[in-house]
Amino acid sequence: MAECQVSVQVALRVRPLVDAEVQRGCQMGLECAPDAPQVVVRGAEKAFSFNYVFGPDVDNERVYETAVKELVRHVFHGYNVTVLAYGQTGSGKTYSMGTSYSEDGSRGVIPRVVDDLFRSVTDAGDREFKITVSFMELYQEQVFDLLDPHKSSVDIREHAKGVVVPGLTEVSVHNPEETFQCLIRGSLGRTTGTTAMNTLSSRSHAIFTITVHQKSKVDQTDCKTSKFHLVDLAGSERSKKTKTSGETFKEGININRSLFALGNVISALGEECQKGHISYRDSKLTRLLQDSLGGNSMTLMIACVSPADYNLDETLSTLRYADRAK
Ligand code: ADP
Ligand code: MG
Repeated sequence: MAECQVSVQVALRVRPLVDAEVQRGCQMGLECAPDAPQVVVRGAEKAFSFNYVFGPDVDNERVYETAVKELVRHVFHGYNVTVLAYGQTGSGKTYSMGTSYSEDGSRGVIPRVVDDLFRSVTDAGDREFKITVSFMELYQEQVFDLLDPHKSSVDIREHAKGVVVPGLTEVSVHNPEETFQCLIRGSLGRTTGTTAMNTLSSRSHAIFTITVHQKSKVDQTDCKTSKFHLVDLAGSERSKKTKTSGETFKEGININRSLFALGNVISALGEECQKGHISYRDSKLTRLLQDSLGGNSMTLMIACVSPADYNLDETLSTLRYADRAK
Protein backbone atom coordinates (compact mmCIF):
# COMPACT_ATOMS: atom_id res chain seq x y z
CA MET A 1 0.00 0.00 0.00
CA ALA A 2 1.22 3.46 -0.85
CA GLU A 3 2.36 5.51 2.09
CA CYS A 4 0.10 8.38 3.05
CA GLN A 5 1.72 11.69 2.42
CA VAL A 6 1.31 14.35 5.07
CA SER A 7 0.02 17.27 3.04
CA VAL A 8 -1.16 19.61 5.80
CA GLN A 9 1.26 21.44 8.04
CA VAL A 10 0.43 23.82 10.83
CA ALA A 11 2.59 26.70 12.02
CA LEU A 12 1.63 28.62 15.13
CA ARG A 13 2.72 32.23 15.15
CA VAL A 14 2.65 34.19 18.40
CA ARG A 15 3.05 37.89 17.72
CA PRO A 16 4.66 40.27 20.24
CA LEU A 17 2.44 42.36 22.52
CA VAL A 18 1.40 45.48 20.59
CA ASP A 19 1.70 48.96 22.17
CA ALA A 20 -1.99 49.12 23.08
CA GLU A 21 -1.72 45.84 24.97
CA VAL A 22 1.40 46.98 26.82
CA GLN A 23 -0.31 50.23 27.80
CA ARG A 24 -3.29 48.30 29.05
CA GLY A 25 -0.99 46.28 31.28
CA CYS A 26 -1.53 42.97 29.47
CA GLN A 27 0.75 40.10 30.43
CA MET A 28 2.10 37.30 28.23
CA GLY A 29 -0.37 34.43 28.46
CA LEU A 30 1.65 32.02 26.33
CA GLU A 31 5.08 30.55 26.61
CA CYS A 32 6.94 28.98 23.69
CA ALA A 33 9.14 26.02 24.53
CA PRO A 34 12.83 26.81 23.83
CA ASP A 35 13.68 23.61 21.94
CA ALA A 36 10.45 22.03 20.75
CA PRO A 37 7.60 23.27 18.53
CA GLN A 38 5.34 23.58 21.53
CA VAL A 39 3.43 26.30 23.33
CA VAL A 40 2.18 26.34 26.90
CA VAL A 41 -0.91 28.30 27.94
CA ARG A 42 -0.19 29.90 31.29
CA GLY A 43 -2.80 29.32 33.94
CA ALA A 44 -4.46 26.54 31.98
CA GLU A 45 -1.08 24.70 32.05
CA LYS A 46 -2.04 23.15 28.78
CA ALA A 47 0.48 22.45 26.03
CA PHE A 48 -0.04 22.29 22.25
CA SER A 49 2.42 21.03 19.64
CA PHE A 50 2.52 21.92 15.95
CA ASN A 51 4.84 21.43 12.99
CA TYR A 52 6.32 24.83 13.77
CA VAL A 53 5.92 27.31 16.60
CA PHE A 54 7.16 30.83 15.95
CA GLY A 55 7.49 32.97 19.06
CA PRO A 56 7.27 36.77 19.35
CA ASP A 57 10.94 37.24 18.40
CA VAL A 58 10.67 35.45 15.07
CA ASP A 59 10.44 37.80 12.09
CA ASN A 60 8.70 37.39 8.74
CA GLU A 61 11.92 36.39 7.02
CA ARG A 62 12.45 33.45 9.34
CA VAL A 63 8.83 32.33 9.08
CA TYR A 64 9.19 32.35 5.31
CA GLU A 65 12.56 30.60 5.17
CA THR A 66 11.48 27.90 7.62
CA ALA A 67 7.94 27.06 6.58
CA VAL A 68 7.09 28.53 3.18
CA LYS A 69 10.12 28.69 0.87
CA GLU A 70 10.12 24.94 0.33
CA LEU A 71 6.53 25.09 -0.95
CA VAL A 72 7.54 27.32 -3.87
CA ARG A 73 9.68 24.47 -5.17
CA HIS A 74 6.67 22.15 -5.07
CA VAL A 75 4.71 24.49 -7.31
CA PHE A 76 7.33 23.95 -10.01
CA HIS A 77 6.89 20.20 -9.60
CA GLY A 78 3.21 20.56 -10.42
CA TYR A 79 1.69 20.63 -6.94
CA ASN A 80 -1.02 23.07 -5.94
CA VAL A 81 -0.07 24.89 -2.76
CA THR A 82 -2.25 26.73 -0.25
CA VAL A 83 -1.01 28.94 2.56
CA LEU A 84 -3.76 30.16 4.91
CA ALA A 85 -3.56 32.61 7.78
CA TYR A 86 -6.13 31.89 10.50
CA GLY A 87 -6.80 33.79 13.72
CA GLN A 88 -8.81 36.46 15.47
CA THR A 89 -8.77 40.04 14.22
CA GLY A 90 -5.54 41.73 15.28
CA SER A 91 -3.59 38.48 15.68
CA GLY A 92 -1.21 39.15 12.77
CA LYS A 93 -2.77 37.45 9.71
CA THR A 94 -2.28 40.35 7.33
CA TYR A 95 1.14 41.15 8.78
CA SER A 96 2.21 37.52 8.25
CA MET A 97 0.74 37.15 4.75
CA GLY A 98 1.72 40.62 3.54
CA THR A 99 -1.69 40.98 1.93
CA SER A 100 -1.64 44.76 2.06
CA TYR A 101 1.69 45.05 0.37
CA SER A 102 3.92 47.69 1.90
CA GLU A 103 7.62 48.50 1.63
CA ASP A 104 8.12 48.92 5.38
CA GLY A 105 10.75 46.23 5.60
CA SER A 106 8.53 43.60 7.24
CA ARG A 107 7.44 41.96 3.92
CA GLY A 108 5.10 39.08 4.60
CA VAL A 109 4.68 35.73 2.84
CA ILE A 110 3.11 36.93 -0.43
CA PRO A 111 5.86 39.33 -1.60
CA ARG A 112 8.49 36.75 -0.70
CA VAL A 113 6.70 33.98 -2.61
CA VAL A 114 6.40 36.29 -5.62
CA ASP A 115 10.12 37.15 -5.56
CA ASP A 116 11.11 33.49 -5.29
CA LEU A 117 8.72 32.39 -8.03
CA PHE A 118 10.13 34.87 -10.52
CA ARG A 119 13.70 34.01 -9.48
CA SER A 120 12.99 30.33 -10.20
CA VAL A 121 11.42 31.20 -13.55
CA THR A 122 14.56 33.07 -14.59
CA ASP A 123 16.73 30.12 -13.54
CA ALA A 124 14.81 27.43 -15.43
CA GLY A 125 16.24 27.80 -18.94
CA ASP A 126 14.62 24.76 -20.60
CA ARG A 127 11.05 25.73 -19.73
CA GLU A 128 8.62 28.38 -20.80
CA PHE A 129 6.49 30.04 -18.16
CA LYS A 130 3.31 32.00 -18.06
CA ILE A 131 2.21 33.41 -14.72
CA THR A 132 -1.21 34.86 -14.02
CA VAL A 133 -2.79 36.21 -10.85
CA SER A 134 -6.33 36.60 -9.58
CA PHE A 135 -7.62 38.07 -6.36
CA MET A 136 -10.97 37.15 -4.83
CA GLU A 137 -12.83 38.29 -1.78
CA LEU A 138 -15.32 36.01 -0.10
CA TYR A 139 -17.84 37.99 1.88
CA GLN A 140 -21.12 36.58 3.21
CA GLU A 141 -20.76 33.47 1.03
CA GLN A 142 -20.46 35.63 -2.08
CA VAL A 143 -17.33 35.77 -4.21
CA PHE A 144 -16.09 39.12 -5.56
CA ASP A 145 -13.43 39.75 -8.17
CA LEU A 146 -11.01 42.23 -6.59
CA LEU A 147 -9.11 42.80 -9.84
CA ASP A 148 -12.27 43.84 -11.65
CA PRO A 149 -12.75 47.63 -11.46
CA HIS A 150 -16.45 47.04 -10.68
CA LYS A 151 -15.61 44.36 -8.15
CA SER A 152 -18.29 42.17 -9.68
CA SER A 153 -19.63 39.05 -8.07
CA VAL A 154 -18.57 35.73 -9.64
CA ASP A 155 -19.72 32.10 -9.44
CA ILE A 156 -17.85 28.90 -8.72
CA ARG A 157 -18.23 25.90 -11.04
CA GLU A 158 -16.85 22.43 -10.60
CA HIS A 159 -15.29 21.12 -13.75
CA ALA A 160 -13.67 17.84 -14.75
CA LYS A 161 -10.30 19.60 -14.62
CA GLY A 162 -10.98 21.27 -11.28
CA VAL A 163 -12.68 24.36 -9.94
CA VAL A 164 -13.38 27.20 -12.35
CA VAL A 165 -14.65 30.70 -11.73
CA PRO A 166 -16.04 31.94 -15.06
CA GLY A 167 -15.42 35.63 -15.69
CA LEU A 168 -12.79 35.99 -12.98
CA THR A 169 -10.07 38.47 -13.98
CA GLU A 170 -6.74 36.74 -14.57
CA VAL A 171 -3.91 39.21 -15.03
CA SER A 172 -0.82 38.05 -16.86
CA VAL A 173 2.26 39.17 -14.90
CA HIS A 174 5.89 39.24 -16.03
CA ASN A 175 7.80 40.40 -12.97
CA PRO A 176 7.36 40.93 -9.23
CA GLU A 177 6.44 44.63 -9.63
CA GLU A 178 3.45 43.88 -11.87
CA THR A 179 2.33 41.24 -9.39
CA PHE A 180 2.60 43.65 -6.44
CA GLN A 181 0.51 46.17 -8.35
CA CYS A 182 -2.31 43.58 -8.54
CA LEU A 183 -1.96 42.86 -4.83
CA ILE A 184 -2.13 46.54 -3.93
CA ARG A 185 -5.03 47.25 -6.28
CA GLY A 186 -7.06 44.34 -4.92
CA SER A 187 -6.30 45.01 -1.25
CA LEU A 188 -7.55 48.58 -1.58
CA GLY A 189 -10.94 47.26 -2.68
CA ARG A 190 -11.41 44.88 0.26
CA THR A 191 -14.48 45.16 2.43
CA THR A 192 -13.75 46.12 5.98
CA GLY A 193 -16.20 46.58 8.83
CA THR A 194 -15.99 48.15 12.24
CA THR A 195 -16.41 45.99 15.30
CA ALA A 196 -15.85 46.76 18.96
CA MET A 197 -12.56 44.91 18.74
CA ASN A 198 -10.70 46.61 15.93
CA THR A 199 -11.72 49.43 13.64
CA LEU A 200 -9.94 47.84 10.69
CA SER A 201 -11.19 44.35 11.30
CA SER A 202 -11.45 42.23 8.21
CA ARG A 203 -14.81 40.58 7.82
CA SER A 204 -13.98 38.78 4.61
CA HIS A 205 -11.60 36.15 3.29
CA ALA A 206 -9.04 37.37 0.75
CA ILE A 207 -7.70 34.81 -1.72
CA PHE A 208 -4.73 35.82 -3.85
CA THR A 209 -3.94 33.13 -6.42
CA ILE A 210 -0.83 32.79 -8.54
CA THR A 211 -1.18 30.32 -11.40
CA VAL A 212 2.01 28.96 -12.94
CA HIS A 213 1.76 27.44 -16.43
CA GLN A 214 4.93 25.73 -17.56
CA LYS A 215 5.88 24.04 -20.79
CA SER A 216 9.05 22.28 -21.82
CA LYS A 217 10.86 23.90 -24.76
CA VAL A 218 11.96 20.47 -26.02
CA ASP A 219 8.82 18.42 -25.50
CA GLN A 220 5.65 20.41 -26.16
CA THR A 221 3.46 17.72 -24.59
CA ASP A 222 5.26 18.22 -21.28
CA CYS A 223 3.22 20.96 -19.62
CA LYS A 224 1.95 21.59 -16.11
CA THR A 225 -0.34 24.10 -14.44
CA SER A 226 -0.25 24.69 -10.72
CA LYS A 227 -1.91 27.13 -8.38
CA PHE A 228 -0.50 28.85 -5.35
CA HIS A 229 -3.33 30.18 -3.15
CA LEU A 230 -2.44 32.72 -0.47
CA VAL A 231 -5.37 33.20 1.84
CA ASP A 232 -5.88 35.87 4.49
CA LEU A 233 -8.91 34.51 6.31
CA ALA A 234 -11.56 36.61 8.02
CA GLY A 235 -11.22 37.11 11.76
CA SER A 236 -12.14 33.93 13.63
CA GLU A 237 -13.55 35.71 16.71
CA ARG A 238 -16.96 34.63 17.85
CA SER A 239 -19.73 37.17 17.50
CA LYS A 240 -20.49 37.50 21.21
CA LYS A 241 -17.16 39.13 21.97
CA THR A 242 -17.36 41.56 19.07
CA LYS A 243 -20.82 42.76 20.19
CA THR A 244 -22.23 42.38 16.73
CA SER A 245 -25.84 42.44 15.70
CA GLY A 246 -28.00 42.61 12.59
CA GLU A 247 -26.05 42.59 9.34
CA THR A 248 -22.73 42.15 11.10
CA PHE A 249 -24.11 39.25 13.08
CA LYS A 250 -25.16 37.54 9.84
CA GLU A 251 -21.62 38.13 8.59
CA GLY A 252 -20.36 36.35 11.66
CA ILE A 253 -22.47 33.30 10.87
CA ASN A 254 -21.33 33.18 7.24
CA ILE A 255 -17.69 33.73 8.10
CA ASN A 256 -17.91 30.95 10.59
CA ARG A 257 -19.61 28.66 8.11
CA SER A 258 -16.58 28.89 5.83
CA LEU A 259 -14.11 28.61 8.70
CA PHE A 260 -16.03 25.68 10.18
CA ALA A 261 -16.13 23.86 6.83
CA LEU A 262 -12.43 24.57 6.30
CA GLY A 263 -11.60 23.12 9.72
CA ASN A 264 -13.59 19.98 8.89
CA VAL A 265 -11.92 19.52 5.51
CA ILE A 266 -8.41 20.05 6.82
CA SER A 267 -8.95 17.78 9.75
CA ALA A 268 -10.41 15.07 7.48
CA LEU A 269 -7.34 15.37 5.23
CA GLY A 270 -5.17 14.43 8.17
CA GLU A 271 -7.13 11.18 8.41
CA GLU A 272 -7.23 10.58 4.66
CA CYS A 273 -5.71 7.14 5.04
CA GLN A 274 -8.62 5.91 7.14
CA LYS A 275 -11.62 7.75 5.74
CA GLY A 276 -12.83 8.49 2.25
CA HIS A 277 -15.30 11.34 2.30
CA ILE A 278 -14.30 14.98 2.48
CA SER A 279 -17.13 17.50 2.33
CA TYR A 280 -15.84 20.37 0.24
CA ARG A 281 -19.36 21.41 -0.68
CA ASP A 282 -20.28 22.87 2.71
CA SER A 283 -18.96 26.39 2.02
CA LYS A 284 -17.75 28.65 -0.77
CA LEU A 285 -14.28 28.73 0.73
CA THR A 286 -13.81 24.96 0.62
CA ARG A 287 -15.36 24.77 -2.87
CA LEU A 288 -12.93 27.40 -4.13
CA LEU A 289 -9.96 25.65 -2.63
CA GLN A 290 -11.01 22.07 -3.24
CA ASP A 291 -8.43 21.21 -5.90
CA SER A 292 -5.74 22.71 -3.70
CA LEU A 293 -6.58 21.00 -0.43
CA GLY A 294 -5.75 17.30 -0.39
CA GLY A 295 -4.80 15.18 -3.40
CA ASN A 296 -1.89 16.57 -5.36
CA SER A 297 -1.40 19.53 -3.08
CA MET A 298 0.31 20.92 -0.01
CA THR A 299 -1.27 23.11 2.62
CA LEU A 300 0.27 25.25 5.32
CA MET A 301 -1.93 26.87 7.91
CA ILE A 302 -0.38 29.73 9.83
CA ALA A 303 -2.42 30.05 13.01
CA CYS A 304 -1.89 33.55 14.38
CA VAL A 305 -2.42 34.42 18.03
CA SER A 306 -2.01 37.37 20.34
CA PRO A 307 0.07 36.49 23.40
CA ALA A 308 -1.95 38.81 25.68
CA ASP A 309 -3.71 37.27 28.68
CA TYR A 310 -6.69 39.47 27.79
CA ASN A 311 -7.19 37.50 24.54
CA LEU A 312 -6.72 34.06 26.07
CA ASP A 313 -10.25 32.82 25.23
CA GLU A 314 -9.83 33.50 21.53
CA THR A 315 -6.24 32.27 21.61
CA LEU A 316 -7.39 28.96 23.08
CA SER A 317 -10.05 28.65 20.42
CA THR A 318 -7.42 29.23 17.69
CA LEU A 319 -5.09 26.69 19.31
CA ARG A 320 -7.89 24.10 19.31
CA TYR A 321 -8.81 24.83 15.71
CA ALA A 322 -5.16 24.52 14.66
CA ASP A 323 -4.74 21.39 16.75
CA ARG A 324 -7.57 19.70 14.84
CA ALA A 325 -5.92 20.66 11.55
CA LYS A 326 -2.57 18.97 12.02
P1 ADP B 1 -5.05 40.73 11.47
O1 ADP B 1 -4.79 40.80 10.00
O2 ADP B 1 -5.02 39.32 12.00
O3 ADP B 1 -6.28 41.45 11.88
P2 ADP B 1 -2.72 42.42 11.65
O4 ADP B 1 -1.81 41.67 10.74
O5 ADP B 1 -3.35 43.62 11.08
O6 ADP B 1 -3.84 41.46 12.24
O7 ADP B 1 -1.90 42.75 12.97
C1 ADP B 1 -2.41 43.56 14.03
C2 ADP B 1 -1.32 44.48 14.52
O8 ADP B 1 -0.22 43.74 15.10
C3 ADP B 1 -0.69 45.34 13.44
O9 ADP B 1 -0.41 46.59 13.97
C4 ADP B 1 0.59 44.59 13.09
O10 ADP B 1 1.58 45.46 12.57
C5 ADP B 1 0.99 44.01 14.42
N1 ADP B 1 1.71 42.74 14.26
C6 ADP B 1 1.16 41.57 13.91
N2 ADP B 1 2.05 40.57 13.89
C7 ADP B 1 3.22 41.13 14.24
C8 ADP B 1 4.57 40.62 14.41
N3 ADP B 1 4.85 39.32 14.21
N4 ADP B 1 5.52 41.50 14.78
C9 ADP B 1 5.24 42.80 14.99
N5 ADP B 1 4.02 43.33 14.85
C10 ADP B 1 3.02 42.52 14.48
MG1 MG C 1 -6.05 41.60 8.53
